[in-house]
Amino acid sequence: MGNPHGFLKIKRSKTDYRPACERVKDFAPVAAPRAEGVTREQTSRCMDCGTPFCHWGCPLGNFIPEWNDLTANLHWERALDLLQATNNLPEVTGRVCPALCEFACVLGINDDPVTIRENELAIVEYGFAHGLIKPQPPAVRTGKKVAVVGSGPAGLACAAQLNRAGHLVTVYEKADKIGGLMRYGIPEFKLEKSVLDRRQALWTAEGVVFKCGVNIGVDRTVAELQREHDAVVLAGGSRVPRDLKVPGRELAGIHFALEYLTQPNPLDARGKKVVVIGGGDTGADCVGTAHRQGAACVVQIELLPEPPRERPAGQPWPKYPFIFKTSTSHEEGGERRWSITTKEFKGQKEKVNSLVCARVDSSLKEVPGTDLTIEADLVLLALGFLHPEPINGLMVELDQRGNFKTDQNYMTSVKGIFAAGDMRRGQSLIVWALDEGRRAAAAVNRYLAVT
Ligand SMILES: Cc1cc2nc3c(=O)[nH]c(=O)nc-3n(C[C@H](O)[C@H](O)[C@H](O)COP(=O)(O)OP(=O)(O)OC[C@H]3O[C@@H](n4cnc5c(N)ncnc54)[C@H](O)[C@@H]3O)c2cc1C
Ligand code: SF4
Repeated sequence: MGNPHGFLKIKRSKTDYRPACERVKDFAPVAAPRAEGVTREQTSRCMDCGTPFCHWGCPLGNFIPEWNDLTANLHWERALDLLQATNNLPEVTGRVCPALCEFACVLGINDDPVTIRENELAIVEYGFAHGLIKPQPPAVRTGKKVAVVGSGPAGLACAAQLNRAGHLVTVYEKADKIGGLMRYGIPEFKLEKSVLDRRQALWTAEGVVFKCGVNIGVDRTVAELQREHDAVVLAGGSRVPRDLKVPGRELAGIHFALEYLTQPNPLDARGKKVVVIGGGDTGADCVGTAHRQGAACVVQIELLPEPPRERPAGQPWPKYPFIFKTSTSHEEGGERRWSITTKEFKGQKEKVNSLVCARVDSSLKEVPGTDLTIEADLVLLALGFLHPEPINGLMVELDQRGNFKTDQNYMTSVKGIFAAGDMRRGQSLIVWALDEGRRAAAAVNRYLAVT
């Protein structure tokens, strides 16, 4: 442990965000970089407890106490090696992971938890800044070929792992650039896209081939991929959005959140009254983007009741609790309303101008006589995603939720075709997608060893 008294003497430092009034004028990152001295102090708060629950809380099983200790003692390079041993994109999780680990930190039982996510980011950015992160192509090639469909975190982690194992990996991506929702979803002010380009350059130098602008099922068939490769991994994400089929839905000015968040797009909130339906993180990204575009007013409404501020009894430490969260976008303005259902969209000349809403009780039933009208010229539906889009010509078994079903080895009902990420587990988080990609890669590696 960096300092046996660290957790007693040093308080958790707050993330240094740029002032809200300043950052809302641009799309540059909201967080300011952290000084090395602060990282050293903060890593020394880690108690190196006998049973590190943070390690259990992180889906990747990151070696958190170990890299905290190494960083506190200024062994940055060794900390970096350990960090990269379990995480293919620490520069992404270090920026936007909800830090499941911190809710499981033992120090968090009676004090503020260690700043694990920020420590992770500091270590990997130190590595980039000091030229410690270099391409590591495999020493030996196996001659086996793998096609990975989709370049979100699941596909990328899978490709990186299989390439390191010596297989020849080609990533097929239908969008113009790699990254999936990390690029075409999460706004620039939370995750700058240059971070993805920097990592792609490393993977390219290691031998991964990226083919963007290729829609599998349209431009190429899965059958063709099967003929040309020894295994195929599908990591196409979960992209069918949940709709809100109430009267007036056909009016102009009502869009799914991703249509709005995917940049560039023709939608502009400047001067508009914006209503975001859905109180989750995607909704928060819409709020932040609308403020940056100069919206006149932004209201975010949610059907569920306002979550508690403290852990509910049924979600004790070290579980990840569903509690009230204020994102940086919420700090920048707008209004949040809970327990609100949308009954109808109203408009003039076929364009939306308001929502007819009502309050709901704790069982989500409408409370009679509570109708209210919210004015809106732009409505964004951030209600989550139902299941993956189908791939033309591919007949694989789906699970009850419509996700691609696999066995415990990530293989679909078709031999040699694997699935990972949101496409397999449903809409989730980057850290889970990375874990899926890595596990699928290990399964493919085992499969290739016997075929
Ligand atoms: C707005 C938004 C904000 C989010 N913010 C966060 C956050 O802050 N932190 C967090 O942890 N998680 C966040 N998430 C969730 C996270 O982004 C996803 O869970 C994660 O990206 C899923 O990874 P994936 O690789 O499974 O799929 P995706 O990221 O969806 O990538 C799938 C890729 O496959 C491609 N593809 C699909 N079909 C084909 C085909 N037929 N041929 C070729 N290519 C294809 C797609 O174009 C896409 O690039 C957010 C999600 C959204 C929508
Ligand atoms: S990836 Fe997320 S859960 Fe894992 S250590 Fe980093 S911040 Fe914590």
